[in-house]
Amino acid sequence: MKKITVALAGNPNSGKTTIFNMLTGARQHVGNYPGVTVEKKEGLCKYAGFEITVVDLPGTYSLTAYSIEELVARNFIIEEQPDVVVDIVDASNIERNLYLATQLIEMNVPLVLAFNMSDVAKQNGLVFDIEQLSKLLEAMIVPTVGNKGKGKVELLDAIVETARQGEMERTHKISYGEEIETELAGIETLIAGEERRLAEKYGTRWLAVKLLEQDSDVTAKVHSKEVLDAVRAGVGHLKTIFADEPEIIIAGRRYGFISGACQETVESTVESRHSTSDMIDAVVINRILGLPIFLILMLVVFLLTFKIGKFPMDWLEQFFGWAGRTITDFWPAGSESWLKSLLVDGVIAGVGGVIGFLPNMLLLFLAIAILEDSGYMARAAFVMDRIMHRIGLHGKSFIPMLIGFGCSIPAIMGTRILENRRNRFTTIMVIPLMSCGARLAIYALIIPAFFKEKWRAPMLWLIYLIGIALAVICAKILRLTVFKGETTSFVMELPPYRRPTIKAVCIHTWQRGWMFLKRAGTIILAISIILWVAMSYPRPSDEFLAGLNSEQARQAKLEYSTVGRIGRAIEPALKPLGFDWKIGTALIGATAAKEVFVSQLAIVYAVGSTGEQPQTLREKLQANYTPLTGFCIMLFCLISAPCVASVVMTKRETNSWPWALFQFASLTALAYIITFIVYQLGSLIAG
Ligand code: GDP
Ligand code: MG
Repeated sequence: MKKITVALAGNPNSGKTTIFNMLTGARQHVGNYPGVTVEKKEGLCKYAGFEITVVDLPGTYSLTAYSIEELVARNFIIEEQPDVVVDIVDASNIERNLYLATQLIEMNVPLVLAFNMSDVAKQNGLVFDIEQLSKLLEAMIVPTVGNKGKGKVELLDAIVETARQGEMERTHKISYGEEIETELAGIETLIAGEERRLAEKYGTRWLAVKLLEQDSDVTAKVHSKEVLDAVRAGVGHLKTIFADEPEIIIAGRRYGFISGACQETVESTVESRHSTSDMIDAVVINRILGLPIFLILMLVVFLLTFKIGKFPMDWLEQFFGWAGRTITDFWPAGSESWLKSLLVDGVIAGVGGVIGFLPNMLLLFLAIAILEDSGYMARAAFVMDRIMHRIGLHGKSFIPMLIGFGCSIPAIMGTRILENRRNRFTTIMVIPLMSCGARLAIYALIIPAFFKEKWRAPMLWLIYLIGIALAVICAKILRLTVFKGETTSFVMELPPYRRPTIKAVCIHTWQRGWMFLKRAGTIILAISIILWVAMSYPRPSDEFLAGLNSEQARQAKLEYSTVGRIGRAIEPALKPLGFDWKIGTALIGATAAKEVFVSQLAIVYAVGSTGEQPQTLREKLQANYTPLTGFCIMLFCLISAPCVASVVMTKRETNSWPWALFQFASLTALAYIITFIVYQLGSLIAG
């Protein structure tokens, strides 16, 4: 006869003893756990050819080292390794009771959940989606009514089935948030190297979590100084960031996991939830109000980012203008120096143009950090999850897409929160369709040049909307083809609301901003120099330029340069889109960084040169192109090849050049096709 050992865990008064009696009947043996005066009851049960030994663990709410009962329960599970742990859950008080379950899940034991007191739960108006909840928690769930003996056979079946499956790798880890996860990862690596025996027995993740929780029992087991030092440093770091014990934050995250799982699977027909978090959530993630609240909040964030960001942006612009003039003044008036040109037209124009967006970025990152740290972002993802599921993405995908409105680079990095590779890659591929801040510079140039005052705002809105719509369509297509596969169900965690600490918000904002500066800055510096070289060389001979006025000479030089030649070469391909070679050169520049399009056009049209009638760039565009062309420029810039920095970032995050190039090529092709159709149709109608 095959033998199975089952341990019954559960909160006090969840009905453990009742279930124990239901399973074992009279065949019981009462004793003590070795060394402590905690009662240990054991019983036998024969079922379907199995001899099942049932052990009634002490009733506990958690598995910390703070009480003897909890330690006994925990040690029994770890030392004796029962084949199955049955967690008796009081279903009428589900969220509180599942806290213990999260810890059993984390110990990776073969787990069955008995939803006991299911009669009481029903009376209280609770309805469970058992199938879905079982998927989310990765454990079989059996409703029982212990004192009526209901659910006995089903529970035994689940025990036998789970014992047969044995230990399994769980896919849904409770995520403790970026900060804690980073610490955990570091400590886990150290444990794996330094404490091999412990790691084998307890698992590195469980150990790392316990160490950060400052669990006395586990800490006493660790001897490696390196590990202990890392833990001490980690705890200190987390304390300053959260202004709270890591243990509390970790517990909050576990409740967030439960809260998220229950939001999706437990329906309460009577109003019985009262905590502040729950009351806020009742409004914020309401089926009807959730989305509008989220959209309005985002609108406010964008408005503030651009309204407030305008001032420092102007200052930076003035600063770079001043820097350019100061450097120019080093050389005698009218003299030509390649170094001057490189510094002023290359480095300052290129890098300055990008750094000009830093205030916007920082403000946006600040707003996002506040929303994230307060716990709202998790709610936004929760609300979006319902919509995102329809296009085959996970709700969490929406956070990086949102960041994409600021800049694709942090957005692509932000996809790390997505555990599923297909989800993650699909999201990365469509992120460039979110109109980033740099593209805004292009829209800001084009729209006022071609459209009347009252059409300007709707035009901008339309362009953004086209991007979002295309992202949705492309994501759907990708999920149906290259990234085909089921969307795994995930728990959308709903951590408790917290007042964000100033320190944490500043750290988060600065980390992202610095990343933007460093990564984008270095690449853009390099590209600016390359572009400058390509725009300045080769140079025509003096005879070639003889007889031309300064503006004509500038144009001639540009046409003669590498960039000019490439522009000319691709002009036939751009004609059907309504673009000439000048726009072509600007488009090439835009692949370096989208906003380069603006400065490039400015150079091409030699703004500020001493022509007969000085005109602004906008007036020149107006004189040379139609509104249709203007619209097509925006359309093409929106959809086409993401900037080099974001291509490099895609390569880094997918760890694959083919995917990065696929993104680059397919988006450019898409831009070409759509712009072609729009221009041709537009010309037909206009003509
Ligand atoms: P323990 O502390 O977990 O061992 O809980 P007990 O087994 O002692 O049960 C506590 C009380 O709940 C007892 O009065 C049981 O009769 C009662 N009880 C157990 N299971 C159920 C159930 O499914 N429904 C209802 N209504 N009462 C139950
Ligand atoms: Mg009992």
